Order: sequence, then C-alpha cells, then structure tokens
Amino acid sequence: MTEQVDVVILGSGAGGATMAQALASSGARVLVVERGDPVPREAENWSPVAVWRDLRYRTTERWVDGHGGEFPPYMHYCVGGNTKFWGSVLIRLRREDFGVVRHIDGESPAWPIDYETLAPYYDRAEVLYGVRGEAGLDPTDPPRGPFPHPAVPHAPAVASLVDRLKGLGLHPSPLPLGLRAPGEPGGCLLCNTCNSFPCQRDAKSDAEVCAMTPALASPNVALWTRAFARRLVTNPAGTRVVAVEVERDGEVHRVEAGTVVASCGAVNSAALLLRSATDRHPDGLANSSGLVGRRYMAHLATMMQGFHPFRTNDTVFQKTVALNDFYFEGPGTAYPLGHVQSQGRTHGVMAKVVGDTIIPGIPLAAYDAWVARGVDWLAMSEDLPSAENRVTLAPDGRVCLTYTPNNVLAHERLVTEMTRVLKRLGYWKVMAHSHRTRNTTHQCGTLVFGDDARTSVLDPWCRTHDVENLFVVDASFFPSSAAVNPGLTIVAQALRVADHVCATEL
Ligand SMILES: Cc1cc2nc3c(=O)[nH]c(=O)nc-3n(C[C@H](O)[C@H](O)[C@H](O)COP(=O)(O)OP(=O)(O)OC[C@H]3O[C@@H](n4cnc5c(N)ncnc54)[C@H](O)[C@@H]3O)c2cc1C
Repeated sequence: MTEQVDVVILGSGAGGATMAQALASSGARVLVVERGDPVPREAENWSPVAVWRDLRYRTTERWVDGHGGEFPPYMHYCVGGNTKFWGSVLIRLRREDFGVVRHIDGESPAWPIDYETLAPYYDRAEVLYGVRGEAGLDPTDPPRGPFPHPAVPHAPAVASLVDRLKGLGLHPSPLPLGLRAPGEPGGCLLCNTCNSFPCQRDAKSDAEVCAMTPALASPNVALWTRAFARRLVTNPAGTRVVAVEVERDGEVHRVEAGTVVASCGAVNSAALLLRSATDRHPDGLANSSGLVGRRYMAHLATMMQGFHPFRTNDTVFQKTVALNDFYFEGPGTAYPLGHVQSQGRTHGVMAKVVGDTIIPGIPLAAYDAWVARGVDWLAMSEDLPSAENRVTLAPDGRVCLTYTPNNVLAHERLVTEMTRVLKRLGYWKVMAHSHRTRNTTHQCGTLVFGDDARTSVLDPWCRTHDVENLFVVDASFFPSSAAVNPGLTIVAQALRVADHVCATEL
C-alpha cells in the first residue's frame, strides 16, 4: 500500500509532535507515524505499583550493551513519547552552554548556533508548553523576558528549605515547570505522581497534550499509531528519501513524502539511519561523517535524599526548586559541576524496586517509613561527547548501546557538595543513588548538528548534510548535553526547523 503526503514525521514525542503542531497551519499534508499507542487514561496512571513494579507503560524491548549483555531501556513508545512520563521541567540551556565549555574531563564543543538564535524559539516553546517560572532569580539564567505563567508556589516546607538554602549563601530559584492550571478546578492537582507517571487529567504539558492533539484538529494532519518506521528508501543516487517503509498491523506500507522528518528519539533515529544503509550509503544513511550513532550522551544523574528520622515530610508536590550555584564552577574548582533540582516524592514501591537490585528482600513497610522522612533531589552533570559512546545495530538488528560515562569526577564533586549542603540543613543521613550507565532518559547527541559535513551529520537547520529532504528534530542534534533537562531545547529547535521547512520546502 502506498500513501502520499507532503511531510512525514516519524515519532510523536517532544520533537515530532511539536513539528506537527508547527506545520499544521501550513496547509501541507502531514502524516505522523508513531510506533506506540496513546497511553490510556486509567487508574493505573497514578499507581506506583503499575508504573514502577509492573512497568506497565515501558517498552518490553531489550537493548544490547557494549559487552553483549541485554538490558531493558527506560523508554516509552506511545503518542507523546517519553514526554508522557517526564517531570515537565522545561528549562533553557544556559547561554554559555552554546559555546565551548571546559570541564574537569575535557571540553564540550560549541553549538553551530548561539543562544540568541534560539531565544525567540524558547519563547514560543514556553508559550506552547505553558511553562511557569520566575525570571531574574537564577543568576545563571540566560537573558530572557518573563515566563508566560507565574512560578508554581513552593509548598510551605519547601519554602522553608529555600529560605535555609539562601541562609547558606546559595541562590535557589523556582524550577521552570510545564503544568496546566495548577490548583485550579480541572487543572493540575500538584499530586505526588507526576515525574515518571502519565497524567490522568492531561494536566501535564506533554507533547501529546500541547502539540499532537492540537495538530490533529487540523484536517491536513493525520496520525498513524502502532506504525513502526522500519527503513528509509532513497533514490538511486542516494540524494533523497523517496519513501518510508512502515510496518503497521502486520502490513508494510510505503509512505512517499517530499520532506521526511525523523524524530524517533536520539537512539532510535540513529538506529533508523543505520538500518537504512544502501550501496550508496553503506555505513548507514547520511553517514559520510561516520558520526551516525556516535557521541551518545545521557547526563550523569544521581537521586539524592536528605533523611531525618524525626521529621516526617508532609509535602505532596516538592519539585519546585532549582539550584545552579555549582553550574559554572564548584567550591575549590574552576570547572562546572552541574545542576540540582528538587525531585518528585519517592514512593516506597519505587525505592523498593531500586533497593531490591542492591539488597533484595527488605519489606515494603521499611521503604515506606524511610521515604516518608526523606526529601528528594536530583543532581545532574554534563557528560561529554565521545566517539566511543555510540548506538550500533547488533547482528540480530537490535539496538546496541555502548556507553562509558565520562566527566565522573565533576559529578562526584557535585554529589559531595550537595551532600554537604543537605547535612547543613540538618538531615541526619543523605542517601545517593546513581542512575549509572543504562539511564536512557536524557539521551542525545547521536546525529550531531554543525556547519561542517565532515564533523557533523546535520546542518544547523537539522537537515542531513548528505540527504537533501531528510530532517531530524529529536534530541539527536545536541553537540553537547549541557547539565539541564533537554526537553525545552528539543521543542525550541523543532519550532525553528519547522519555520525553515515552511520557508524552504513547502
Ligand atoms: C521518566 C522521565 C522523566 C523525564 N523528565 C524530563 C523533564 O522533566 N524535563 C525534560 O526536559 N526532559 C525529561 N525527560 C526526557 C525527555 O522526555 C526527553 O528528552 C524527550 O522526550 C526526548 O524527545 P525526543 O523527541 O527526542 O524523543 P521522544 O520524546 O522519546 O519521542 C520519540 C518518539 O518516537 C517514537 N518512535 C521511536 N522509534 C520509532 C520508529 N521506528 N517508528 C515510529 N515511531 C518511533 C517513540 O514511540 C516516541 O513516541 C524525562 C524522561 C523520562 C523517561
């Protein structure tokens, strides 16, 4: 079966759905091809047992690691992609992140665009995803105007923590969040099942709610679900994609489009290009640089918990604080350490799932008692692009992810520093659990953008250097990972690329 459209978008996550929304008013016929289904709205959305123990919404796919072992990636294939499960921290990169940044472990490279180029698209992205925050309080903030919505107020206990952090000479600020009408009737309940859970009320600003559903209101936009983009087919010269092979309900469809936009996520878009090798592109499509799949990054991340045996934590929604005092340098070092944010409440079930992988058999009640007395934080550092950290295809066609973390010392120092801060706030014990090497949630960098076709896969408009009608608008394009959450930058760049596609392709 053959389908003909003007633009085919592969994947409906942060990049793909945003692209569809931005092209909806262009009049072009747009088809979004998504391998997953919509996440059902059901009681299990907010069940820690369903989400964390039974992994109800995670893919059952297994990836192979660099040593030949297999592991379950922390991935969700659904309409909206991983944004359905994100914590909706929608924060801009710092202005300095667009230039060369020197780290303890090396250098993170400059982007081919500067902050000022992306700033107007950050503005639009914040409006589209309804971001809440307060400008002018975070000394590391790039130049910017006010947020579209006021910051989510801190819960009383969090406000008191913020005061005490300020008392230590630090500069906590409101964490920019995409939440819809928090505290208002029908809006976000500010509950404790946000980060890593889908929102039963559609009150979280995810890509389905903010972009895919609005796009589908336009008669020229269509969505195929349970539709897997298997391969891109090129013309004999290898200069254009002429069709996408899509598996859907046991049949293979051929989707022909003038413009093809891959947005399957950093790992799966790289895998798609590798699967699309031809005689003209023997090492994978658009891979004349040899960089397709390479320079995979994912952040160094550690969950931290300040614990006090006699202080019960009554806060329901505590994810409202950003701390960037160690972003550009840390105590005793001129190098960046990273970003810290308060985190959603840990549930006993979540702690037990993780705890059982370390010391099995501790009863749930013990975890419940522990997490009731803890305050949760996330410490995040930049990892640096390395050609050896890469996506390849295993002999059986599965994704193979080889990743050795770097810039580890910077992250250890950040965790040490944050431990010190939490101890000074009076916590008896500070627990730290690293996401280690298989955390794929902040994956990026596998199809890097740049000016030079020898050292990048995409040009500054995210068009592949080698294939003229092929664009990529997911996290693949990041030349460096910076140390803040990637989502808003993916959305902003998708809006920028959409403007360019409208101006040059349609
Ligand atoms: C638990 C969790 C919490 C997070 N919290 C935050 C946060 O607070 N802030 C933030 O900025 N980021 C957060 N992230 C990261 C964020 O979700 C990702 O950076 C973002 O979703 C990546 O966008 P993307 O467009 O690159 O890919 P995705 O959003 O992953 O979308 C890719 C889409 O492509 C589809 N797909 C894949 N392969 C194919 C194929 N072959 N054919 C068809 N469709 C395909 C997938 O099903 C998916 O819908 C979080 C992630 C997780 C998992």
